[in-house]
Amino acid sequence: MNIRFLGAVNDVTGSCHLIEFKDKIIMLDCGMYQGKEENLNYKEFEVNPADIDYLFLSHAHIDHSGRIPLLVKKGFKGTIYCTKPTYDLCEIMLIDSAYIQESETEWKNRKAKRSGKPLVDPLYTQADAQESLKFFEPVLYDQIIKLDDDLIVRFSDAGHILGSSIIEMWFKEKDEIKIVFSGDLGMKGKPLLKDPAIINSADYIIMESTYGNREHKTIEQAEEELINIILKTTRRGGTVIIPSFAVGRTQEIIYELNKYYDRKLGLEGNKESELRKIPVYIDSPLAAKATEVFARNAHAFDEETKNYLMDGDNPLHFKNLHFTQSVEESKMLNFSDEPKIIISASGMCEAGRIKHHLKHNLWKKECSVVFVGYQAEGTLGRRILDGAKDVKIFGENIHINAEIYSLEGFSGHADKNGLIRWLNNFQKKPEKVFLVHGESESKDSLKNEIEKTLGINCIIPVYNNSYEIKSKVEVHEVSLENGEQLKPFTLTELEKKHIEKIRNEIVNIKNLLDDALKITEEYLSGNNIDADKYRKINNNLLEIESKIMDLIILSGK
Ligand SMILES: [Zn+2]
Ligand SMILES: [Zn+2]
Repeated sequence: MNIRFLGAVNDVTGSCHLIEFKDKIIMLDCGMYQGKEENLNYKEFEVNPADIDYLFLSHAHIDHSGRIPLLVKKGFKGTIYCTKPTYDLCEIMLIDSAYIQESETEWKNRKAKRSGKPLVDPLYTQADAQESLKFFEPVLYDQIIKLDDDLIVRFSDAGHILGSSIIEMWFKEKDEIKIVFSGDLGMKGKPLLKDPAIINSADYIIMESTYGNREHKTIEQAEEELINIILKTTRRGGTVIIPSFAVGRTQEIIYELNKYYDRKLGLEGNKESELRKIPVYIDSPLAAKATEVFARNAHAFDEETKNYLMDGDNPLHFKNLHFTQSVEESKMLNFSDEPKIIISASGMCEAGRIKHHLKHNLWKKECSVVFVGYQAEGTLGRRILDGAKDVKIFGENIHINAEIYSLEGFSGHADKNGLIRWLNNFQKKPEKVFLVHGESESKDSLKNEIEKTLGINCIIPVYNNSYEIKSKVEVHEVSLENGEQLKPFTLTELEKKHIEKIRNEIVNIKNLLDDALKITEEYLSGNNIDADKYRKINNNLLEIESKIMDLIILSGK
């Protein structure tokens, strides 16, 4: 068997890898290229899409999922496996991406007509995106999915965005080989999400390296810095512009601000009441839709967030938070001088409403622009961040006077230490680690660090080269021999504990159901419904849902 690396090889975008195993072809991610590699979106797929059996999708970000509609349009007939929240997010993101493709093509064609150049077709349409959704098969975190006698897959939480996953794959040739694809790995302690799952063993790892040469500040430091920037900017009458991925980062910023707007954190002096008067505008229809998807997938949140929900506080909503929908509402934001916070997409300032906000605010010295995510080479965001004095937006020269900040503590990606820590947790060290999804300096530096500190051989793959994966005689934690498992056996202490845990979960669910039944009966027999109690029922239902989910995961069914 062998692996080929087709995207996110020379840079971070266009994530796509290919495993050729016996007569099967498995694709990992099918992402869109962004920034300086944008033109690559139009290249032919390196393999006939009709020959691909499975696509395992690590998460919904467009640089990992964005070429799926194109793959289907070009003949893919296989199955796309991903987690349920990833599917829910793809549903809105792929349609949105198609809409952007359609409107950009329309704009290009209008220009082409005037200059007599040939017309172009969009990469894919909204109808193509809709069609591609039919091929998805959403699964739960931690489920062990047996696809064939010789192929097993499992998705674990990568803590990067909602639904993001680390993908473990077991292949059975003569012996068993396990390949782990890290997807994008999140930062420990990230808002809303769980920490990246610890994986026990692998023969080969395909690992991201976005921040392989950087150390982030902590999330707490980033939080404090953000509050200070907001207060400083609005006190001098300016607006804070936060370019942000509509999905993921935006919800995390809402969550962080919610802590200050809705809960008492004891900021010194009048800072808290001052802050609450500053309106926050989420100016991205996609972000609004994504926020709804987040609310629907509460079971995937971390404990802190679940506790907020149980308290009746929706952590993705607070007073003075506004979602703007129409273009008119969006434009209105730049007509008023009121100090405010505008969070808008796209995260790297390449498209969308953020470009208008930058055009109207970058030249004002009282304003601030705060970057909270990675800015790929060749993007407008990267130029601003790198200290450009002037930028061109919609053909107009804009002189930069606003203050520019970058808060890497909000990053969706683990830093160098986080990546090393995750790798160090493997009890069985891998044969090789393939480093992808990073700029050269980042990959080189991470390769050195891993080889020096962990003694694991690293490879920086070359585009479309084929790397042979050799099998080794080893016994792994998930056996492909189902015959063995069917024989009667005596429970070990560990297995007894496992069953005890399952039993406790069942008792918990039973109690919650009893409670919910009692409360609903009371309501139906009376006339008035107390808002607090109503919320309690709602919360109980949420907890039941998550318990059932936990139970399903525990029992592995
Ligand atoms: Zn990502
Ligand atoms: Zn990525």
